Amino acid sequence: MKTFDYVRPATISEAIAAAAVPGSAYLAAGTNLLDLMKGGITRPDRLVDVTRLPGLDRIERLPDGGVRIGALVRNADLANDANFARSYPAVAEALLSGASAQLRNAATVGGNLLQRTRCGYFYDPASACNKRAPGSGCDARDGENRLHAVLGWSESCIATHPSDFCVPLVALDAVVEIEGRSGRREIALEDLHRLPGSTPELETRLAPGDLIAAVRLPAEAAFAGHARYLKLRERTSYAFAVVSAAAALDIEGGRIRQARMALGGVAPKPWRARAAEEVLADSAPDETAFRRAAEAALADARPSGDNAFKIELAKRIVARTLTLAAAGTPERLPALPASPFSSIPVTSIPGAHHDA
Ligand code: SF4
Repeated sequence: MKTFDYVRPATISEAIAAAAVPGSAYLAAGTNLLDLMKGGITRPDRLVDVTRLPGLDRIERLPDGGVRIGALVRNADLANDANFARSYPAVAEALLSGASAQLRNAATVGGNLLQRTRCGYFYDPASACNKRAPGSGCDARDGENRLHAVLGWSESCIATHPSDFCVPLVALDAVVEIEGRSGRREIALEDLHRLPGSTPELETRLAPGDLIAAVRLPAEAAFAGHARYLKLRERTSYAFAVVSAAAALDIEGGRIRQARMALGGVAPKPWRARAAEEVLADSAPDETAFRRAAEAALADARPSGDNAFKIELAKRIVARTLTLAAAGTPERLPALPASPFSSIPVTSIPGAHHDA
């Protein structure tokens, strides 16, 4: 492993100054970064440890009913905060479906947003990878790519964004607070991550030294009663999503007043499904609307090799997530959070008869 400097600033402004030096990287829990360093994938000259910075580990209710989550709040602490989970059940469900209990206890909110893709070629220094070594090519294009993107990908990179947490956050219009060299600014989470285009090595809109300070969610009382996150993965826990979906519905008088929908595991960034939301608005919450929403959500999908199955799978997950959300947020999260097999009879799920 390459040697590096380690600094532990006492204030946010010191941290920004230290991390703005080329070759620097912020260190929080390190659940992704340290693996990347051990594998020689990322080779920072300097780690700026932010874990002792004051004021970044709080969950605060805002006067408008929203919530502000400090970047150093641990994933498990947020998911298990009863007030938070009641207001944002799909976010809690997504958090609990991610990684393992040990990792959730360590991983931070800010780090979750900035975790890197799990494309196997990215983690293999012997493979061509435009994200790791710009201009070297992409071995995933003609390689093992059944888990790669079907939306938003480019000829340069077909990797997916791995976060569960970001999916409901994007659906619910989360905002990221960033401290940088020119002060504090805000950006919609939906705009934080870039699509790969011809520069897949540029993954976010953060500048050198920029520090994610917090994530803010607007008040979501209208959605809390009908919100779910559903994740399909290759084993029940400690696996990234093959496909996932977050849905939140505002239902009144038997009609959907407004809908929020996003997908995970299908694109290089958490994927807001606005076309599906438009289909659902002012519709009855029934199988017909859910199937139309699923078609709309995946209308632009293109396979890139072995992953054509993900398009049909994603449509079914969209329909199932909407079915679950329409049935109502459960009083308690299921024992296997975000599992399609965890909480409702398979026979009541649209498309289930095709799945046996
Ligand atoms: Fe690298 Fe992206 Fe290609 Fe994976 S898909 S090998 S991350 S360029």
